[in-house]
Amino acid sequence: MSGPGRSGERTGGRRMLVVGAHSADFVWRSAGTVAAHTATGGEALVVALTYGERGESGVLWKEEGQTEENVKRIRHEEATSAAAAVGAGFRAFDLGDYPLHVSQESVAELAELMRDFAPHVVLTHPEKDPFNPDHPVAHEAVARARLLTSGAGVASGFRTAPPSEFLAFEPHQPELCGFVPTVYVDITPVFDRKAEAMSCMAAQRYLQEYYAQRADQRGNHARKVTGNQDIRQAEAFHRLLPNVVGAL
Ligand SMILES: [Zn+2]
Repeated sequence: MSGPGRSGERTGGRRMLVVGAHSADFVWRSAGTVAAHTATGGEALVVALTYGERGESGVLWKEEGQTEENVKRIRHEEATSAAAAVGAGFRAFDLGDYPLHVSQESVAELAELMRDFAPHVVLTHPEKDPFNPDHPVAHEAVARARLLTSGAGVASGFRTAPPSEFLAFEPHQPELCGFVPTVYVDITPVFDRKAEAMSCMAAQRYLQEYYAQRADQRGNHARKVTGNQDIRQAEAFHRLLPNVVGAL
């Protein structure tokens, strides 16, 4: 039975793949969920299609004489540390941001990674984001790679991996991206891990307070849905495919 995560659910033996357009995207939107996954025995891998070196490294570009190569080097260290803080591995494709273009070769590389890692759950951006040129491109590439990985649900003439759960993490301005939460993940027990991951992202310090507040607000919503007063922080997701359960 595969179903939505419940507080305290064991994830032992499960693999989570998070794919972001930029190296810090996973931190703000899903670091708590990654931490909850690994804290209960799951394995997690973060893939960044770019470092966000041009478009999402604001603080670093205030330094005189800054170069793209140096920004990428710093962003690689930040993301590796942030992923480690929540128990995940980190891999960068370094495809270049603003604008991100994902070639068919890179989609094929991502599909090959998915076949090797065989994730049980895949997280990425929603389909739409009127404020960002790269996030929808990342969504499309991940959706395509996932389909190439899983095939059509019948025997295929290529190597496949089992179908995975597929969810979008919460964008910066959810209403304008058409994002409606269908899953809240209780990240209360691991919120300190998310806070540490966020603190690794020095190039985007301005987002740390914002996303800590978001986690509190989603915690409030999750309390309301469940009646569980112990939930303090949560992260929101939109399920892109139905989940299948044995009973309701
Ligand atoms: Zn981004």
